[in-house]
Amino acid sequence: MSDTHQSEAGRAKRSPSVRLPSLPLTGGCQCGQVRYEIRKIPLVFYLCHCTECQRHTSSAYGESLRVESASLVVTGTLKTTRRGSQSGAIRLGDFCPDCGVRVQHRSEGNPHRVNIKAGTLDDTSWLAPAGHIWVRSKQPFVAIDPAELAYDGPPGDAGSAAIGARWREMLAAGEQD
Ligand SMILES: [Zn+2]
Ligand SMILES: [Zn+2]
Repeated sequence: MSDTHQSEAGRAKRSPSVRLPSLPLTGGCQCGQVRYEIRKIPLVFYLCHCTECQRHTSSAYGESLRVESASLVVTGTLKTTRRGSQSGAIRLGDFCPDCGVRVQHRSEGNPHRVNIKAGTLDDTSWLAPAGHIWVRSKQPFVAIDPAELAYDGPPGDAGSAAIGARWREMLAAGEQD
């Protein structure tokens, strides 16, 4: 089948591949006091361009590698900061009290999921985002390919499901490489 027969939607949804390194994935803070292991395949990886992520990273966007809490083993001491979000949920940010690096985010209402701040991984070379959220406040110099999944604000349930599905496609494509 020639490329012209492929629908625009199909073209837009075509996913790059992700080659997950062998488990566990490892990482930690800058000073090494906090270390972690991720022992199961992460649920999703996405970038958040909201102003809160820009502030907490003191950078352009937040990188969230969502994992099951039960698959994560953390050693060392974390300190926790709390804030209320627009949705009313209480967001918890865990950081190393010695070097200040934010290692993970959690939601108080959902103890089963943790968002690892992916810049703390020992190996970040394989990461590719399955989606972008809060694009309306992204830094102007950040370019997002039109083929990527991007949401103006919060993705909602449907958007979250689409980003998760794309992540699983990317992992499956990586296994076939
Ligand atoms: Zn540290
Ligand atoms: Zn954010």
